[in-house]
Amino acid sequence: MENTQYVQQFEDFFRERYRKGLEKLALFYPEIKSLEVDFMELDKFTPELADDLLENPEAVIKASEEAVAALGYKSVDGVDVKPKIRFFNLPNKLFIRNINSAHINKLIMIDGVINKITDVRPKIDTAAFQCIRCGRVYRMPQDTEMYDKIAEPAVCSCERKEFKLNIEETTFVDMQKMQTQEPLDALVRGEQAKNIDIWLEDDLTNRMYPGDKVQIVGVLRLRPPKGKSSVYNIYIHAIHVEQIEREFEEIELTEEEEEQIRELSEDPHIYNKIVGSIAPSIYGHKEIKESLAIQLLGGSKSKILADGVRIRPDIHILLIGDPGTAKSQLLYYIYTLAPKGVFVGGKSATGAGLTATAEKDDFGEGGWTLKAGALVLASGGQACIDEFDKMGDEDRSSMHEAMEQQRISIAKAGIVTTFRSETAILAAANPKYGRFDPYTLPAEQFNIPPTLLSRFDLIFPIKDVLDEEKDKNMAEHILLNQMLAGIRNTGTKGVLSDKEIESAKERVTPTIEPDLLRKYIAYARKNVNPVLTKESTDKIKAYYLDLRKLSKSQGSMAITARQLEALVRLAEASAKGRLSDKVEIEDAERSIRLHRFVMQEIGIDPETGRMDIDTIATGQSKSRMDKARALYATIRQLNSDNDTVTKEMVLAQCADIGVNADELDKLLGILKKNGDIYSPKHNQFKTADDRKG
Ligand code: ADP
Ligand code: MG
Repeated sequence: MENTQYVQQFEDFFRERYRKGLEKLALFYPEIKSLEVDFMELDKFTPELADDLLENPEAVIKASEEAVAALGYKSVDGVDVKPKIRFFNLPNKLFIRNINSAHINKLIMIDGVINKITDVRPKIDTAAFQCIRCGRVYRMPQDTEMYDKIAEPAVCSCERKEFKLNIEETTFVDMQKMQTQEPLDALVRGEQAKNIDIWLEDDLTNRMYPGDKVQIVGVLRLRPPKGKSSVYNIYIHAIHVEQIEREFEEIELTEEEEEQIRELSEDPHIYNKIVGSIAPSIYGHKEIKESLAIQLLGGSKSKILADGVRIRPDIHILLIGDPGTAKSQLLYYIYTLAPKGVFVGGKSATGAGLTATAEKDDFGEGGWTLKAGALVLASGGQACIDEFDKMGDEDRSSMHEAMEQQRISIAKAGIVTTFRSETAILAAANPKYGRFDPYTLPAEQFNIPPTLLSRFDLIFPIKDVLDEEKDKNMAEHILLNQMLAGIRNTGTKGVLSDKEIESAKERVTPTIEPDLLRKYIAYARKNVNPVLTKESTDKIKAYYLDLRKLSKSQGSMAITARQLEALVRLAEASAKGRLSDKVEIEDAERSIRLHRFVMQEIGIDPETGRMDIDTIATGQSKSRMDKARALYATIRQLNSDNDTVTKEMVLAQCADIGVNADELDKLLGILKKNGDIYSPKHNQFKTADDRKG
């Protein structure tokens, strides 16, 4: 089609379909300077023109703008109304990863999450060049693509070729650059998100922030490489940007799937089934898996109290433990299972890191760039952070706010802004000295400041203790798993009988298939917000008050209302597990059971058998621990001097370390249980040094 034909058709289109819109625009022009046009309307009106718009956007958009100008609308102040035309709602959405050279100079539409955005800077719109001899001024409109050079007039009518830029007469347009990446919920199981640069101009600038989920319509353009490379960069020159809802629950479910989910929720064993579907390849860790299931479900959607205070619904969990105890594996599993998840290492997360930053860098051509970190990008979902203890200082300081208020504020170089980080955090860390020292309370060995620790709803210390029975079962579990994988991959026969294969499969196959479980979780998160009942509240209250009493009697107050909120969240999530709109007693009980388990793991005093909650915050050690430690040192010394260490030899040293004969057996028992010593023969001891390291 000819350009004049385009203009003609657009005039008809606007006259018929956008009369009202244009009249309204005229009232606000030039404060509002663009007209948003639904592509589908155009497509209905004249399909050929709509097709041409997709194929040849530059010319067609220009024609549409000429057409509107030709209609002759005037603003209130008598200015000609010449808006930018911003088309939206294209028929096809492209995935960022599918963009290729066939799309160059075509109009495309993508969904993305903004991960960085630069300052708004002025860019030359029309350059005014003045001849240095005769003073004639030439106005040169600057093409968007020519971002790194300015188009100059070739030669002046006076035949000189030297010009200077006349800044006063040059016009500028606002320009901002951003990068978007694929929305996390659109990725399958652990795929890396791809990204693309977007250029925004004029009234599209200054409206978006990192972490925003947007739908962008624009022209795919080439950006020449710096230097001599023949590989061009691509970017989208946006003509329309729209913020879209950013929720966890964007997984779309069919009616059959919803039916299947509701049916599943009525299964009396649903709870066990969910837990049984969390990382079945990993042996043991029952309470952890149960808590992870609960974390995926989350508490009831953020409650805004009568005075406006917001309580977070997201549950934060910390796994802190010896190396090789499947922490990373659990994190990875949850990351792939969560409907929207990110997986990051505390240390490896460079740049924007975990939270958000403002930096001067290349992307902003030397200006400021705001960058969203993992917690912002995963907002509305789940962040799995490995090596949490090794995160950078900047992240550590904004982590407090990110975890509790679930936002991250940045105030730097005149930039003041806030990001949402409504993300459930599953973190893993090693203890202070790499592995747990069995004679110091776990709580003393957390390499994370107490202020951050207190923001976790549940903290699981994982100790790699020698336990013959457990070791045997776990070895069997791991080996069987590997045999199965081998058989599955190679088809080798005769290694296991069919019956053995069947029973092995049963042990390591998720009860609910991961795809369905992910949908189940998404459905529960979206549709179910259980409310506390009187009975469940009473239960939680009684447990909490007991905790407080215990805590108080020991002098300090490590138990705070934070734990109470945590108990409520856990109970709500439990109710969500069966899609119940009420938190029943069984939910309160589950919440309390998990909380109690954690308390015991962290702080039980082996001497009194009593919960030593305060150590979470204060970290005071207990006498029995000190004695065990001293006894261990004694045996170790004896062991280095003698081949065999008998009980009598140990007893002879006991007075020195304040251990009496009655206590000795108990202490030896603890040392053995922890795998620090063993008995090669009855009443003989050896230290198990080689196991440590
Ligand atoms: P961590 O992050 O705690 O140091 P990893 O997650 O890297 O440990 O685990 C080390 C290896 O040991 C992994 O291959 C993991 O599968 C295996 N492993 C450790 N504990 C278990 C377990 N309980 N069940 C199955 N495999 C385990
Ligand atoms: Mg690890």
